[in-house]
Amino acid sequence: MRRIQRDDVVEVRSGKNKGARGQVRQVLPKRDRVIVQGVNMVKRHMRPTQVGTPAGIIEREAPMHLSNVAVVCPACDRPARIGYKKRADGLKVRVCRRCEADID
Ligand SMILES: [Zn+2]
Repeated sequence: MRRIQRDDVVEVRSGKNKGARGQVRQVLPKRDRVIVQGVNMVKRHMRPTQVGTPAGIIEREAPMHLSNVAVVCPACDRPARIGYKKRADGLKVRVCRRCEADID
Protein backbone atom coordinates (compact mmCIF):
# COMPACT_ATOMS: atom_id res chain seq x y z
CA MET A 1 0.00 0.00 0.00
CA ARG A 2 1.23 3.44 -0.82
CA ARG A 3 2.09 5.86 1.90
CA ILE A 4 0.17 8.60 0.14
CA GLN A 5 -3.01 8.07 -1.81
CA ARG A 6 -5.43 10.05 -3.89
CA ASP A 7 -7.75 12.32 -1.85
CA ASP A 8 -5.43 12.33 1.17
CA VAL A 9 -4.88 15.73 2.72
CA VAL A 10 -1.16 16.37 2.80
CA GLU A 11 1.11 19.08 4.15
CA VAL A 12 4.23 20.28 2.40
CA ARG A 13 7.28 19.71 4.55
CA SER A 14 9.99 21.60 2.71
CA GLY A 15 10.63 24.06 -0.07
CA LYS A 16 8.87 27.26 -0.94
CA ASN A 17 5.43 25.81 -0.28
CA LYS A 18 6.33 24.59 3.20
CA GLY A 19 3.27 24.44 5.45
CA ALA A 20 0.76 24.48 2.61
CA ARG A 21 -2.00 21.91 2.72
CA GLY A 22 -4.13 20.42 0.04
CA GLN A 23 -5.87 17.32 -1.19
CA VAL A 24 -3.99 14.88 -3.39
CA ARG A 25 -5.47 14.99 -6.86
CA GLN A 26 -3.20 12.48 -8.48
CA VAL A 27 -0.38 10.12 -7.57
CA LEU A 28 2.38 9.59 -10.13
CA PRO A 29 3.99 6.40 -8.85
CA LYS A 30 6.53 6.05 -11.60
CA ARG A 31 7.89 9.49 -10.82
CA ASP A 32 7.43 9.26 -7.03
CA ARG A 33 5.39 12.42 -7.20
CA VAL A 34 1.95 13.72 -6.30
CA ILE A 35 -0.18 16.55 -7.57
CA VAL A 36 -1.74 18.47 -4.71
CA GLN A 37 -4.79 20.67 -5.18
CA GLY A 38 -3.85 24.34 -5.12
CA VAL A 39 -0.22 23.79 -4.09
CA ASN A 40 2.95 24.38 -6.08
CA MET A 41 1.22 26.42 -8.75
CA VAL A 42 3.18 27.21 -11.86
CA LYS A 43 2.29 29.52 -14.68
CA ARG A 44 2.03 27.95 -18.06
CA HIS A 45 1.81 29.74 -21.33
CA MET A 46 -0.87 28.23 -23.51
CA ARG A 47 -1.05 28.79 -27.20
CA PRO A 48 -4.49 29.87 -28.42
CA THR A 49 -4.63 27.08 -30.97
CA GLN A 50 -6.96 24.41 -29.68
CA VAL A 51 -10.65 25.12 -29.53
CA GLY A 52 -12.08 24.94 -26.03
CA THR A 53 -8.82 25.37 -24.17
CA PRO A 54 -7.95 28.67 -22.50
CA ALA A 55 -5.25 30.72 -24.13
CA GLY A 56 -2.72 32.93 -22.43
CA ILE A 57 -1.16 32.29 -19.05
CA ILE A 58 -2.87 29.77 -16.84
CA GLU A 59 -1.83 28.46 -13.47
CA ARG A 60 -1.80 24.82 -12.61
CA GLU A 61 -0.30 22.49 -10.06
CA ALA A 62 3.14 21.06 -10.68
CA PRO A 63 3.89 17.60 -9.29
CA MET A 64 5.80 17.48 -6.02
CA HIS A 65 8.12 14.75 -4.82
CA LEU A 66 6.67 12.32 -2.30
CA SER A 67 9.47 13.05 0.14
CA ASN A 68 8.33 16.67 0.40
CA VAL A 69 4.79 15.96 1.56
CA ALA A 70 3.30 14.20 4.57
CA VAL A 71 -0.23 12.93 5.11
CA VAL A 72 -2.13 14.99 7.65
CA CYS A 73 -3.59 12.73 10.32
CA PRO A 74 -7.37 13.29 10.49
CA ALA A 75 -7.36 12.64 14.24
CA CYS A 76 -4.51 14.81 15.50
CA ASP A 77 -4.45 17.22 12.53
CA ARG A 78 -0.69 17.09 12.21
CA PRO A 79 1.61 15.76 9.49
CA ALA A 80 1.89 12.12 10.36
CA ARG A 81 4.59 9.55 10.15
CA ILE A 82 2.78 6.62 8.65
CA GLY A 83 2.76 3.14 10.13
CA TYR A 84 0.80 0.12 9.09
CA LYS A 85 -1.30 -2.37 10.94
CA LYS A 86 -3.51 -5.25 10.09
CA ARG A 87 -7.10 -4.98 11.17
CA ALA A 88 -9.07 -7.92 12.55
CA ASP A 89 -10.61 -8.52 9.13
CA GLY A 90 -7.15 -8.85 7.61
CA LEU A 91 -7.17 -5.51 5.82
CA LYS A 92 -3.96 -3.53 6.08
CA VAL A 93 -4.50 0.07 7.08
CA ARG A 94 -2.31 3.08 7.58
CA VAL A 95 -2.00 4.52 11.07
CA CYS A 96 -0.60 7.71 12.50
CA ARG A 97 2.45 6.88 14.58
CA ARG A 98 1.87 9.90 16.78
CA CYS A 99 -1.66 9.14 17.96
CA GLU A 100 -2.18 5.61 16.62
CA ALA A 101 -5.39 6.60 14.82
CA ASP A 102 -6.37 4.83 11.62
CA ILE A 103 -5.92 6.99 8.57
CA ASP A 104 -7.82 4.77 6.12
ZN1 LIG B 1 -2.53 11.32 14.51
